[in-house]
Amino acid sequence: MIVLACDLGGTRMKVGVVRDGQVLARTGIPANSKAGLVPGLPALAAAWRQLLVELQLAPRDCAGISVSFPSIVDAASGRVLAEYGKYADAMDFSLRDWARQEFNLPLAIENDARLALIGEWKFGAGRGSDDVVMITLGTGIGTSAVIQGRVLRGQHGQAGVLGGHSTVRYGGRKCSCGNVGCVEAEASTAFLAELARSDSGFAASRLAAEPTLDFAAVFRHAAAGDACAIKLRDHSLRVWGTLVVNLIHAYDPEVVVIGGGIMASADIILPATTEYVRRHAHTPWGLVRIVAGQLGDNAALVPGEWLLQEQFPDLK
Ligand SMILES: [Zn+2]
Repeated sequence: MIVLACDLGGTRMKVGVVRDGQVLARTGIPANSKAGLVPGLPALAAAWRQLLVELQLAPRDCAGISVSFPSIVDAASGRVLAEYGKYADAMDFSLRDWARQEFNLPLAIENDARLALIGEWKFGAGRGSDDVVMITLGTGIGTSAVIQGRVLRGQHGQAGVLGGHSTVRYGGRKCSCGNVGCVEAEASTAFLAELARSDSGFAASRLAAEPTLDFAAVFRHAAAGDACAIKLRDHSLRVWGTLVVNLIHAYDPEVVVIGGGIMASADIILPATTEYVRRHAHTPWGLVRIVAGQLGDNAALVPGEWLLQEQFPDLK
């Protein structure tokens, strides 16, 4: 089954054609998500058509469209249920109607963190287990869970995906979601500059001279002995470790997959998290495996066929 897949990020749309968990072709196009979804749809359709031409295929060779979306969605109805300053018009727009008109294909949509988990569960680091939790460390912190082979969605589409907004510091920093002390507010790229500047040693730190303050810079300067970077690194590792323990206690996984851009520093994050979990998680049955994602940017593209078959069981 050939599927047109896309992963709609805040600044890039990843666009692909996939089959049997493999990416046949892919490209990326800029996304002006603040301007909305609808203005970007012609470029998205053109990108898929170009990929199909390269593969000597046509829309009629495809079974459907799979969309990974950065918000809470209702997979059953295909509706977007919330907006966070990205693709705000999607809540009042039927992507399914658009897909029918543009390609005459059915369309399935899922939250991006959840779809990345489905990708890693079926085709990547979570293969072989039916109890998998995934955390995506990036601009924000995404989470999702598969329990006993079932993707956790919940009555309002938000079950499992708000781990980044679970509280790790009572009375802590105010988060963009309205809560305080969230994982995202305590250790994510979105809050990194604010976190760094709140440290009394920041002005004297090499981090202050970085043109772009990201976790790669934090890990690099920490390794070189910079005191402020070491504090930020160790704080972040404890926050992420606490999140993993919380998710283990909530969802009872065998495997925790950690992905996202910050995992470029997996050589530090994985051993630190594994040790934190060994010391603090209550799992009388054994040890949870903590592993890095294997699919990178493709994680939310490759399960397109799985999602379509789940949402449209009669699809051939
Ligand atoms: Zn929050």
